[in-house]
Amino acid sequence: MKARRLPRLLYADERGTIFDHPDLCMAGMSGTQAVLPERVELIPLPEGSRIFTIPHTPPLAWDERKNAFVPVESVRHGRKQLRVQAVSAFMAPGYVRTLLPACDYGRKKVHLPLWSYTAVGWDMEQERFVVAASLVDKNDNWNPRNYDDRKLDPLVRKMLAELPDNRLLEQLARCAVDYHCFAAKNLFFRRWEAPLPTSPVCNSRCLGCISLQPSECCPSNHERIGFVPTPEELCQLALPHLNEAAEPIVSYGQGCEGDPILQADTIAEATRRMKGATARGTVNFNSNGSFPDRVRMLCDAGMDSFRFSLNSVREEYYNRYYRPVGYTFAQVTESVKAAKERGKFTMINYLVSPGLSDAPEEVEALLKFIDVTGIDMIQMRNLSIDPDYYHKQLEFSGKGMGMYRMMEKVKKSFPRIQYGYFNRTKENFYPAGLETGWPIKP
Ligand code: SF4
Ligand code: SF4
Repeated sequence: MKARRLPRLLYADERGTIFDHPDLCMAGMSGTQAVLPERVELIPLPEGSRIFTIPHTPPLAWDERKNAFVPVESVRHGRKQLRVQAVSAFMAPGYVRTLLPACDYGRKKVHLPLWSYTAVGWDMEQERFVVAASLVDKNDNWNPRNYDDRKLDPLVRKMLAELPDNRLLEQLARCAVDYHCFAAKNLFFRRWEAPLPTSPVCNSRCLGCISLQPSECCPSNHERIGFVPTPEELCQLALPHLNEAAEPIVSYGQGCEGDPILQADTIAEATRRMKGATARGTVNFNSNGSFPDRVRMLCDAGMDSFRFSLNSVREEYYNRYYRPVGYTFAQVTESVKAAKERGKFTMINYLVSPGLSDAPEEVEALLKFIDVTGIDMIQMRNLSIDPDYYHKQLEFSGKGMGMYRMMEKVKKSFPRIQYGYFNRTKENFYPAGLETGWPIKP
C-alpha cells in the first residue's frame, strides 16, 4: 500500500495570505519541542474553526530531505523571496487540540492574545486543512448557526421591558448583544445552558484570566460583572428558564466574572429557592473550588453538578498559573472530593496544553487525582494563552507522551471516566455506553 504523504506546512505572507509549501511538511509542538504529528491525531479542520497568523514569528517545518525540523524565515515566490509568518488554527468547541503550532517562538515579538493555538497543515492528497485535535464532545446546541442576532434582539428588548429593575438581566443583555456570549444569548432564547454571573471578585490571579488582565498584559476578552445580584434577581431569571426552557441548565461561574465561590451565601440562598420552586432543570456551579466548606454548603443547598477549573493537577504548575490568594491546592482537591462524596456530578475543567498536560508526571498525578476525588468527567478545554508565555511563566520545558495517548491511558485506568467539553443536563450525567465514549468520530 502506498504510504500517505505528510501534510504540508502552511505559512502566511506579511499581509496574512496563507499558502501551503510545496516541499516542507507540517510540524507541531508538544510543550517546547517540535514533533511530527501522528496520523491518528490529524483530523480535517472542523467547521466553525478559524485560521489565523502568529505575527512576525517564523514557522518550524519538517524537512524530509534533511530529516530535521527547520525554521522557515522566507519562501521564494517567483522572483521574490517573501518573509513569512506562522499559521495557527483556533478550534471549534468540542475539540481538544493535541499539538501546538510549531514556531520559532524565540523570535516572537508580540504577546499573543488569549486564544488557544493549534497546529494546522494542508493535506495535499485530500486537498483540505488538517489539525492536530480530537473530538471529545458532540453537542450541536453550541453551533454558531443557532445564534442568529436578528432573532435575538426582539427577545432581549421584550425581557428587559418585563423586568426593568433586574440588574442581572441588564448585565446579561450586554453580554448577549455586545460580547456575543452564546450562553447569555441562551437566556433570551429560553433554551439550554444559561449563565448566572454573580461575582465581581476572585481569589485567583490566573495568567490567562478572560475577565481580568493587568494593563501591561494582553487585553481580557470581556469585562467582569460589577455587582453581586440578589437571590431575587437570580431567581427571577433562573426560574422561568428552569421551568420552560428545552434542556435547561443554569450555571454560576460561566466565564467572565470573578469566582462565584466568593458569593457562596447568596448563591446557596438562590439555589435553595430555585430547588424549592421547581424540580425541573439542572443547576450547575463552575468554580476554582477554593473553599471546601462552601462547596459542602452549596451541595446541601441543592446544586446538581460542579465543575472545578485546573490547569494542572501538580501543585507547582497550578500555583504558577492560578497564583492563588488565601487558599491552597489541597483545598481545591478537598472541594472536588467533597462534591463527589455528596453524590453530585463532579467534573474538572481541565485547561489543557499539549506538552504539559500529557507530560508523564502530569498523567501520573492525574490518575492519582481521579482515584482520590472520584470525579465523573474531565472537560478537556484548550487553555487560551500564548504558549511561549505559558511555558516561560510556568518554568516548563520538555514534551508530553501525546494527548491522544494520555487520554487513552486515563480511560484504560478508569473506564467510567467521561471526556467532555460542555456541561450536561442531569438526565445526561451518566449516559449509556460510557466505556466507549471516546474517541468520538467527527
Ligand atoms: S460568560 Fe461572560 S459574557 Fe457570558 S454571561 Fe457570563 S459574564 Fe456575561
Ligand atoms: S479563577 Fe477564573 S475569574 Fe478567577 S482569575 Fe482565574 S480565570 Fe479569572
